[in-house]
Amino acid sequence: MMIQNIAPAVYSNAYPYGRAPQGEDFLLIFNEKGFLSSRLTGETPFQTFAALGDKAPEAFPLISIDDRVLYMARGEEPPTGFEMHHFGELMHALPKPWSFAAVTAGHLAGWYWDNRFCGRCGHPTEPGKTERSLVCPHCGNTIYPKISPVVIVCVTDGDRVLLTRYAGRDYTHYALVAGFCEIGECPEDTVRREVMEETGLRVKDLRYWGSQPWGLSSSMLLGFFARLDGSPEITVDRSELSYAGWFTRDELDLKDDGISLTRSMIVAFLNGES
Ligand SMILES: [Zn+2]
Repeated sequence: MMIQNIAPAVYSNAYPYGRAPQGEDFLLIFNEKGFLSSRLTGETPFQTFAALGDKAPEAFPLISIDDRVLYMARGEEPPTGFEMHHFGELMHALPKPWSFAAVTAGHLAGWYWDNRFCGRCGHPTEPGKTERSLVCPHCGNTIYPKISPVVIVCVTDGDRVLLTRYAGRDYTHYALVAGFCEIGECPEDTVRREVMEETGLRVKDLRYWGSQPWGLSSSMLLGFFARLDGSPEITVDRSELSYAGWFTRDELDLKDDGISLTRSMIVAFLNGES
């Protein structure tokens, strides 16, 4: 199970341009640093329009969970009873489906903010009327949401799995080899390149395993399993990783965290499902 698995709730990214907020819809106040109005306790994590009444600011629809649309407005002041939290923090602090809603809304809100002006001519952009886009009324440039493909690679060698730790980050849990696809590069080539760059290893028998939208980095994660091809001797790229090493199943005691593709892939390996 991952953050996007929110059943029985249903996520919709249908583009509700021009839809007026209903009483049970949510208002999320966003600032430019990716903080949004929310609360970590209470019946709902976001403010309803019904509770706001005529104090509701003008707001723009983002996504919906079941039949409730999440609207965004710009600002620094949360409604009474709410606080400003970074959307990455909410990923771990809120129960499903709201954690997924917060991360997805944060991804979109960041994209809207970063594309207020046309990169071609500098004119202010406007929301597209028929599809999720930003359109420049001056030169006609159309901008679509940024979703960058990333590969996550679980390299195995018989009963062993290759785990890594990132350099220079607070995040100290074990991870898998990962990296962004470059322009003109197939994900399979990204897998081979990233494994070689980060650890000096060669891989074969690539198998696509699953995917995950990861709004925190505006990316789409593509999970692959791959088998070691040749020498198991690791050469760690210290600029990217602080550590990389082989672990047998007996040495690891990890459970699915219900959030990440990385964790679900490691657990799949431990369970012999891969
Ligand atoms: Zn333009």
